[in-house]
Amino acid sequence: MERILVSACLLGRRVRYDGRAKTVADAVVDRWRAERRLVVFCPEVAGGLPVPRPPAEIADAAGARAVLDGAAAIRTPDGGDVTRFFVAGARAAAATARANGVRVAVLKESSPSCGVHRVYDGGFSGGTAPGPGVTARLLLDAGVAVFSEDEIAAADAHLRALEAGRAPGR
Ligand code: SF4
Repeated sequence: MERILVSACLLGRRVRYDGRAKTVADAVVDRWRAERRLVVFCPEVAGGLPVPRPPAEIADAAGARAVLDGAAAIRTPDGGDVTRFFVAGARAAAATARANGVRVAVLKESSPSCGVHRVYDGGFSGGTAPGPGVTARLLLDAGVAVFSEDEIAAADAHLRALEAGRAPGR
Protein backbone atom coordinates (compact mmCIF):
# COMPACT_ATOMS: atom_id res chain seq x y z
CA MET A 1 0.00 0.00 0.00
CA GLU A 2 1.28 3.42 -0.96
CA ARG A 3 1.94 5.76 1.95
CA ILE A 4 1.72 9.56 1.79
CA LEU A 5 3.96 11.99 3.59
CA VAL A 6 1.87 14.96 4.76
CA SER A 7 2.91 18.22 6.44
CA ALA A 8 2.08 17.81 10.10
CA CYS A 9 0.39 21.23 10.37
CA LEU A 10 -2.14 20.20 7.70
CA LEU A 11 -3.19 17.32 9.93
CA GLY A 12 -3.89 19.46 12.96
CA ARG A 13 -0.52 19.31 14.65
CA ARG A 14 0.26 22.65 16.29
CA VAL A 15 3.79 22.87 14.91
CA ARG A 16 3.79 26.10 12.91
CA TYR A 17 6.06 28.96 13.87
CA ASP A 18 3.16 30.64 15.66
CA GLY A 19 2.20 27.50 17.56
CA ARG A 20 -0.87 26.89 15.44
CA ALA A 21 -1.98 24.28 12.96
CA LYS A 22 -3.32 24.80 9.44
CA THR A 23 -5.73 21.90 9.38
CA VAL A 24 -7.28 20.80 6.10
CA ALA A 25 -10.78 19.39 6.26
CA ASP A 26 -10.99 16.93 3.41
CA ALA A 27 -12.76 13.60 3.08
CA VAL A 28 -9.87 12.22 1.03
CA VAL A 29 -7.45 12.92 3.88
CA ASP A 30 -9.90 11.27 6.28
CA ARG A 31 -9.92 8.21 4.06
CA TRP A 32 -6.12 8.17 3.84
CA ARG A 33 -6.01 8.33 7.64
CA ALA A 34 -8.48 5.43 7.95
CA GLU A 35 -6.38 3.46 5.48
CA ARG A 36 -3.32 4.15 7.63
CA ARG A 37 -1.42 5.67 4.76
CA LEU A 38 -0.30 8.85 6.48
CA VAL A 39 3.30 9.62 7.35
CA VAL A 40 2.97 12.81 9.41
CA PHE A 41 6.04 15.01 9.32
CA CYS A 42 7.15 18.54 10.21
CA PRO A 43 10.59 19.23 8.73
CA GLU A 44 11.26 22.32 10.84
CA VAL A 45 10.59 20.55 14.12
CA ALA A 46 12.53 17.50 12.92
CA GLY A 47 15.39 19.84 12.01
CA GLY A 48 15.62 21.05 15.59
CA LEU A 49 13.49 24.20 15.71
CA PRO A 50 11.13 24.84 18.63
CA VAL A 51 7.43 25.70 18.68
CA PRO A 52 6.79 28.58 18.66
CA ARG A 53 9.71 30.07 16.75
CA PRO A 54 10.35 33.23 14.76
CA PRO A 55 9.08 33.20 11.17
CA ALA A 56 11.76 32.54 8.57
CA GLU A 57 11.99 32.95 4.80
CA ILE A 58 14.46 32.13 2.05
CA ALA A 59 16.46 35.36 1.79
CA ASP A 60 16.33 37.38 -1.43
CA ALA A 61 14.02 34.84 -3.11
CA ALA A 62 17.17 32.87 -3.89
CA GLY A 63 15.39 29.53 -4.19
CA ALA A 64 15.61 26.19 -2.44
CA ARG A 65 18.35 24.83 -4.67
CA ALA A 66 20.68 27.66 -3.71
CA VAL A 67 19.93 27.08 -0.02
CA LEU A 68 20.67 23.36 -0.32
CA ASP A 69 23.87 24.15 -2.23
CA GLY A 70 25.02 26.47 0.55
CA ALA A 71 24.74 29.54 -1.67
CA ALA A 72 21.76 31.16 0.05
CA ALA A 73 20.31 31.46 3.53
CA ILE A 74 17.02 31.18 5.37
CA ARG A 75 16.66 34.05 7.80
CA THR A 76 14.39 35.37 10.53
CA PRO A 77 13.13 38.98 10.35
CA ASP A 78 16.08 40.19 12.46
CA GLY A 79 18.56 38.55 10.09
CA GLY A 80 19.27 35.43 12.14
CA ASP A 81 20.55 32.55 10.02
CA VAL A 82 18.47 29.40 10.59
CA THR A 83 19.49 27.67 7.38
CA ARG A 84 21.04 24.64 9.04
CA PHE A 85 17.78 23.71 10.79
CA PHE A 86 15.83 23.86 7.55
CA VAL A 87 18.39 21.82 5.64
CA ALA A 88 18.53 19.23 8.44
CA GLY A 89 14.73 19.02 8.39
CA ALA A 90 14.64 18.60 4.63
CA ARG A 91 17.16 15.78 4.82
CA ALA A 92 15.19 14.14 7.62
CA ALA A 93 12.03 14.35 5.51
CA ALA A 94 13.77 12.75 2.55
CA ALA A 95 15.14 9.99 4.78
CA THR A 96 11.69 9.38 6.28
CA ALA A 97 10.15 9.22 2.83
CA ARG A 98 12.78 6.73 1.74
CA ALA A 99 12.35 4.60 4.87
CA ASN A 100 8.59 4.41 4.31
CA GLY A 101 8.69 3.89 0.56
CA VAL A 102 6.84 7.16 0.06
CA ARG A 103 6.22 8.21 -3.55
CA VAL A 104 3.55 10.87 -2.90
CA ALA A 105 3.58 13.88 -0.56
CA VAL A 106 1.09 16.62 0.29
CA LEU A 107 2.81 19.69 1.69
CA LYS A 108 1.82 23.12 2.98
CA GLU A 109 2.02 25.72 0.22
CA SER A 110 4.34 28.77 0.53
CA SER A 111 6.40 27.52 3.51
CA PRO A 112 10.19 27.83 3.07
CA SER A 113 10.29 24.11 3.92
CA CYS A 114 7.06 22.68 2.53
CA GLY A 115 6.05 25.12 -0.22
CA VAL A 116 5.27 23.30 -3.46
CA HIS A 117 4.73 25.92 -6.16
CA ARG A 118 5.84 29.04 -4.31
CA VAL A 119 7.57 30.26 -1.17
CA TYR A 120 7.65 33.53 0.73
CA ASP A 121 10.12 35.83 -0.93
CA GLY A 122 12.25 36.94 2.02
CA GLY A 123 10.54 40.28 2.52
CA PHE A 124 8.24 39.20 5.37
CA SER A 125 5.39 41.09 3.76
CA GLY A 126 3.41 38.15 2.40
CA GLY A 127 4.97 38.27 -1.07
CA THR A 128 5.92 35.00 -2.72
CA ALA A 129 8.32 33.78 -5.37
CA PRO A 130 7.83 30.74 -7.60
CA GLY A 131 9.55 27.48 -6.72
CA PRO A 132 9.46 24.89 -3.95
CA GLY A 133 10.70 25.01 -0.37
CA VAL A 134 13.79 23.08 0.67
CA THR A 135 11.94 19.94 1.81
CA ALA A 136 9.78 19.86 -1.29
CA ARG A 137 12.91 20.34 -3.41
CA LEU A 138 14.68 17.35 -1.86
CA LEU A 139 11.58 15.17 -2.15
CA LEU A 140 11.20 16.11 -5.81
CA ASP A 141 14.86 15.31 -6.35
CA ALA A 142 14.19 11.87 -4.82
CA GLY A 143 11.38 11.24 -7.30
CA VAL A 144 8.48 11.86 -4.91
CA ALA A 145 5.40 13.46 -6.50
CA VAL A 146 4.69 16.53 -4.39
CA PHE A 147 1.29 18.21 -4.16
CA SER A 148 0.00 21.19 -2.17
CA GLU A 149 -3.03 21.18 0.12
CA ASP A 150 -5.00 22.62 -2.80
CA GLU A 151 -4.26 19.53 -4.91
CA ILE A 152 -5.45 16.69 -2.70
CA ALA A 153 -7.72 15.23 -5.38
CA ALA A 154 -4.79 15.19 -7.81
CA ALA A 155 -2.59 13.53 -5.17
CA ASP A 156 -5.23 10.86 -4.66
CA ALA A 157 -5.50 10.27 -8.41
CA HIS A 158 -1.72 9.95 -8.60
CA LEU A 159 -1.77 7.47 -5.74
CA ARG A 160 -4.44 5.36 -7.43
CA ALA A 161 -2.45 5.34 -10.64
CA LEU A 162 0.66 4.18 -8.81
CA GLU A 163 -1.30 1.40 -7.14
CA ALA A 164 -2.78 0.39 -10.47
CA GLY A 165 0.72 0.06 -11.83
CA ARG A 166 0.46 3.02 -14.10
CA ALA A 167 3.19 5.63 -14.15
CA PRO A 168 1.45 9.00 -14.21
CA GLY A 169 3.46 11.86 -15.59
CA ARG A 170 4.29 14.49 -13.01
S1 SF4 B 1 7.67 22.98 8.28
FE1 SF4 B 1 5.98 22.23 7.01
S2 SF4 B 1 4.88 20.81 8.39
FE2 SF4 B 1 6.16 22.10 9.69
S3 SF4 B 1 4.82 23.80 10.27
FE3 SF4 B 1 5.96 24.47 8.45
S4 SF4 B 1 4.62 23.98 6.73
FE4 SF4 B 1 3.86 22.81 8.50
